[in-house]
Order: sequence, then C-alpha cells, then structure tokens
Amino acid sequence: MKILVLNCGSSSIKYRLFDNDITIARGVVEKIGEEVSLFSHYSEGVEIKKQPIKVPDHTRGIELVLNTLVDKGVIHDYGEIDAIGHRVVHGGEEFKSSVLIDDRVMRTLYACIPFAPLHNPHNIKGIESCKQILPNVPQVAVFDTAFHQTMGPVAFLYAIPYHYYEKYGLRRYGFHGTSHYYVSNRAAELMGQPMSKLKMITAHLGNGCSVAAIKFGKVVDTSMGFTPLEGLVMGTRSGDIDPAIVTFLIRKERLSPDEVDSILNKRSGLLGISGISNDMRQLMDASNKGNERARLAIDIFAYRVKKYISAYAGVLGGVDAIVFTAGIGENAPLVRKKILEGLEFMGIQLDDELNKCMVGGREGIISKPDAKVKLFVIPTNEELVIARETRKIVEQLRG
Ligand code: AMP
Repeated sequence: MKILVLNCGSSSIKYRLFDNDITIARGVVEKIGEEVSLFSHYSEGVEIKKQPIKVPDHTRGIELVLNTLVDKGVIHDYGEIDAIGHRVVHGGEEFKSSVLIDDRVMRTLYACIPFAPLHNPHNIKGIESCKQILPNVPQVAVFDTAFHQTMGPVAFLYAIPYHYYEKYGLRRYGFHGTSHYYVSNRAAELMGQPMSKLKMITAHLGNGCSVAAIKFGKVVDTSMGFTPLEGLVMGTRSGDIDPAIVTFLIRKERLSPDEVDSILNKRSGLLGISGISNDMRQLMDASNKGNERARLAIDIFAYRVKKYISAYAGVLGGVDAIVFTAGIGENAPLVRKKILEGLEFMGIQLDDELNKCMVGGREGIISKPDAKVKLFVIPTNEELVIARETRKIVEQLRG
C-alpha cells in the first residue's frame, strides 16, 4: 500500500512516500508564498536539492510533489496513492488516537485552532488542498497530542481556577507524542519486552524538547503543557519559568502580550542564555573556545532534563529504560553525559565508549551491560508512525 505522509507548516511541506514500511521518495517544499520557493526531492536515482521554483500556496506545493512523483517514475499516476497521512499538531481532548478525516473531523480541527494557532491552520490547509487534488483518496490525521491523552487530571490540570479548564480547555496536552510513541515502542522491541511491562522515560531533544514518563505503554506525564512552551529549556523557548515573570515584564518594559509571547518563544532558551545561538553545535564550539555563557546555556539545558528525568523516575516508581532522540538527543554525547551524571543512585550507568560512538543516526544501547536502567539512543521516525497509523485505518475501512 502506498501512503503519502505530509507535514504542512506555515511556509513548508515535508513529504515522504511509503510503500508499506519502506520510504520510496521524500522531500520538502520550502518558502511557500515567497518570491522564490525551494524544492528538494529524493527518490531512487534522483536528487533535487533546493531547486528555486515559484510555489504560491500549499495546493500548488502538493501538486508539485505529486507531479514530481509521476515525472520521476516513482508512481505511474496519482491513482497509485492509496491514502494520505497528515501530521496534525493539536487534537485537543477530542482526538485520543488517529482518525479518518471527514466533515465532522474537519469541524473539530477548526475548533482546535485556538490551541495551536501557529500550526493547526497550516495542517488544515494541507488537508483542504489534498481534498481538492485527490478528492477520493482517504486522508488520516495523526496528532502530536494523542499519545499523551492517557494522562490523568492529576498530571494534566493546572492549579488555577477550575472553570478555566471547563471554559477554555486550559490544561496540559503535551506534544511530540508521535515521536515519544515511536522511540518507546522501538526501545521495548530492542529490549525484547512488551510495553505493558516497562516503565520508560523518553527525551525528545531537538530544537523543541520534551520528556515523557510512560508506564506500561501509557503516558502518565510529559513536560510540554497547554502549548509547546512549557518544560525543558529549548532552542529559543524558555520552558518552565515563574509565571509572575510575565506580569513583571509587562509592567516594567511596557510589553504587549504578543511581545512577551515572542520573547518567551523566540528569544529565550539556549539563544536567550548564550546570546549567540539556538544551535547546540555552535554552542558546543563556542564553549570549547572558552565562551562562558555558551557553557552555561548547555549546563542549564542539561540540568533541566536531569531534573525532569529524576522527577519522572519518582512518578513512575522506578524506571527500566531512558531513551534519547531528536537532533541533540541523537547526536550530542556530551549533553547526554551531562544529563545522566549524578543519577547513578537510580541504577543509571552510562558506558562512555558506547555513548561517544552513538551519533549520526545510529541506534543502540549506551548503558553498561549490567546496569539496572537501560539507556538508548533511537533516531525518531514520526513519518513511519503516521504511515502505519494511516495504513491501519485504511485497512479497517476496506474491511
Ligand atoms: P531537530 O529539531 O531534531 O532537528 O534538532 C535540532 C538541534 O539538534 C539543534 O540544536 C542542533 O544543533 C542539534 N544537533 C544536530 N546535530 C548535532 C550534533 N552533531 N551535535 C550536537 N547537536 C546537534
């Protein structure tokens, strides 16, 4: 079965075409709506790298992708696409798992826009465009929030007046769910044990960062909250702060709500502390050259992850495995070491040699052989999860 997986952002479309579990084409359309857009495509024997092209909107972008798949011989015609799986950032409380998109689902997706105004409208645009181009192809929505919907009110409610939860849905939702789902299941596979027997902590450390506590296959807590701003220190996001800082800044600096939003989302985190960059590679370089603020940014980043891992070990009542994934989690042995240092009392024993060589997309174990807690580096694969979920739903549809 051929499944097209789409991740539509404000000005980009990332795509991957799967033939069952195998990727047969992938690429990205960037800078949609700008004077010059960029198109990259990879399939067997074909490599198009950042080709300048004009793509005024998402519909044209998806047409470009489909026409390229045909032109390059990946498929003979559009009819070969069995289904489309979309990454949708926010599913609110409504969607606890992936769904086949119909009119009712679309209405609920629109209703979820206030929860994720920067993401959901573009995900919806992608779905609407596909409906226009391929009206008879089933489309499935796979939500970043869905895996976290098993959290109980003890973990998801904020200690603010309860009626704000009832009135606005103000609660913790969690994000990166598809990534946490993939790496936790993959770790269980590598351990040769069912999820139903394991207590795990998964750390998705990229530009956005989150940790999840997963007990017997169900998320019991995660660090991102109502929005992806809560929790860990991220590239440009502050993560946890005293909420009183917001009103302090508004009064002292006479800031508007949008300005505070921009400071906490775009000018904080690693960038805010270091004053140099949101990119962990650049910070490690600068720190090696003696830049104190870069070193401090890395230390604060690692400290926050350590704090969450320790808290979640308590929440879970012990931990069998910890998994690192995404750009930093997969590629920065130094950061992993800083995070895990001092946690030996929990049965954590990092193998320095294994840790050092687990970079560049490699998957494997980085704990010492007889350590109580297994430590893994697992490259995430959200697209594969979306493809599998889509296939499952379409197979059910076909009976
Ligand atoms: P992602 O959002 O998953 O693409 O991750 C982006 C983050 O991963 C950025 O902070 C990058 O600096 C970081 N990253 C990527 N490659 C490396 C590397 N080799 N060493 C350290 N950090 C890396």
